[in-house]
Amino acid sequence: MAKKYEGPAIGIDLGTTYSCVAVWDSQINRAEIIHNEQGNRITPSCVAFTDAQRLIGDAAKNQASSNPSNTVFDVKRLIGRNYSDPIIQNDLNMWPFKVIAGRDDKPMIVVKYKGEQKQLFPEEISSMVLTKMREIAEAYLESSVKNAVITVPAYFNDSQRKSTKDAGAIAGLNVIRIINEPTAAAFAYGLQKRGNCVKERNIFVFDLGGGTFDVSILKIKGEVFEVKATAGDTHLGGEDFDNRMVEYFVEEIKRKNKVDISGNAKSLRRLRTSCERAKRTLSFAVDTTIEVDGLFENFDFCSLITRARFEELNMDLFMKCVETVNTCLKDSNMDKSNIDDVVLVGGSSRIPKVQQLLQDIFKAKELCKSINADEAVAYGAAVQAALLCKGVSPNLVILDVTPLSLGILINGDLMSVVIPKNTTIPVKKTEDFEKSEDNQSSIPIKVCEGERTRASDNNLLGLFYLDCNPSNPRGHSLNVCFDIDADGILIVSAEEECTGNKKEITIANNTRRLSPEQIMRMIREAEKYKAEDEEYQKKVNAVNALDDYVYKINKALKNIDRSAKLCPEEKMKINLECSKAKDILDSIKEKETAVFVNCLNKLKSVVKPILQID
Ligand code: AMP
Repeated sequence: MAKKYEGPAIGIDLGTTYSCVAVWDSQINRAEIIHNEQGNRITPSCVAFTDAQRLIGDAAKNQASSNPSNTVFDVKRLIGRNYSDPIIQNDLNMWPFKVIAGRDDKPMIVVKYKGEQKQLFPEEISSMVLTKMREIAEAYLESSVKNAVITVPAYFNDSQRKSTKDAGAIAGLNVIRIINEPTAAAFAYGLQKRGNCVKERNIFVFDLGGGTFDVSILKIKGEVFEVKATAGDTHLGGEDFDNRMVEYFVEEIKRKNKVDISGNAKSLRRLRTSCERAKRTLSFAVDTTIEVDGLFENFDFCSLITRARFEELNMDLFMKCVETVNTCLKDSNMDKSNIDDVVLVGGSSRIPKVQQLLQDIFKAKELCKSINADEAVAYGAAVQAALLCKGVSPNLVILDVTPLSLGILINGDLMSVVIPKNTTIPVKKTEDFEKSEDNQSSIPIKVCEGERTRASDNNLLGLFYLDCNPSNPRGHSLNVCFDIDADGILIVSAEEECTGNKKEITIANNTRRLSPEQIMRMIREAEKYKAEDEEYQKKVNAVNALDDYVYKINKALKNIDRSAKLCPEEKMKINLECSKAKDILDSIKEKETAVFVNCLNKLKSVVKPILQID
């Protein structure tokens, strides 16, 4: 694999609920998970807007209950999808923040920031999380970071992959590769646990996270990692289990207490936070209590939930996981007895029932829980990043696959597959198609992805028209070429050989993608947000410095009072300046940074000659 990029390059697991960043350390020959400023190795994928500032990560999550409508999470569920997508329509009721339909049916998130209403693209919110992850890495590496590998669920389609890349660009990152999450997890497993694997091993990666579910089968032999099959669900994970519990308690409260909290965003958010905590507890305890004081108009909520009830509420979702595992095994043409290792990844893979169902499939095979479920994906992304950089060399070769079949619509709404699902990428394939009618001067080429026979049941990725010679009759052949790069991104071209007419699209022209102008605008706005954040930080520093100085003066005055050294005029002068400072400190919101800086300078000029405090 050609090494093109200057290091350091980081690996980012951009999760639905949490994100994680890692970097390859060639001195110790392994990837290092980087902790954030709070000391946490994972950071909530959450952005909040307040009257004063923008918050990202832990700070955003910590204030979510008090500011639910302006605290945005779950954007991974929105990215690359249309507003009218049934999945989004279903989720809308669950989110305390507002999502509306923008131009071309793109979802827009509506928040109030500094007193003004703002509409943001999902890519913008994701870019804010990515910026945070970049800054975490930069603080650790003590250098700027440009290049990054970002992971996505294997089942992300082309549009979702491109939107993720756009989010990286807005965050000022050069996204050198997009890789599939289970593939990344398999690198982590392969490197950490099977470092000297000489014999061929088949690994089954089961990755159940906060919002997505992915399974993959990989073959590892020596330094070569080959993905054999992937399957999954871009909308199945821990948050769905939380939602089931929330729905259950909303009904219970309605029944027992005659209170309906379903329309109250703040109450729902607080209940959801408690449910998520309870769900984690139920992974090691058989029951637990949910307690939310003042859940609704002074109503204190307290109730018990057992593991059995939790399992009952989610059984159909757990069974969906089982179905997907079986599909993946079938697609790989592999019997489960050929699987050597079953690797668990993603926080939700800790749920005992999920583990039990998986154990039932793989019978005697022990499930590998020894790699860190929350960090494995970022670890693998850092490995991939290092592989693409000069001067660092984890010795690996990676062969990934297409998660869905790709093809074009032909006569009678049929999907003609050009690249079948689970084909190793990068790949380029050309097929001959026939003109379907006489006298056609322009032929529509509809590019679709999916496994259904009827093209209209699959996902339409793009449409373009190929000009051709109308005198060529029906049945005249055309070449259509599908070219997928190592990021899983597709270029489709069509050509009428006899006229030399040729046309191609990168699915970049797809309306679900951002236009270059939109990306540029967002890059500018990201800089503006950054400047605003810095300005806010300056203001906070100025306020704190003034407050601190007033505090020091008061303390010094108290000491002087005790020894009664100060003359009354000096004391009056100081008191007057101090009281002006206190007035200013009482109205922080309305005042500019300079007011606090000037006030401090003035105060120091009066106080320093008398009390000698800095
Ligand atoms: P990930 O996307 O891999 O970070 O997974 C996050 C999801 O895992 C969230 O929905 C968490 O609530 C869930 N999770 C984390 N730890 C546990 C646990 N011990 N039991 C059940 N779910 C968990």
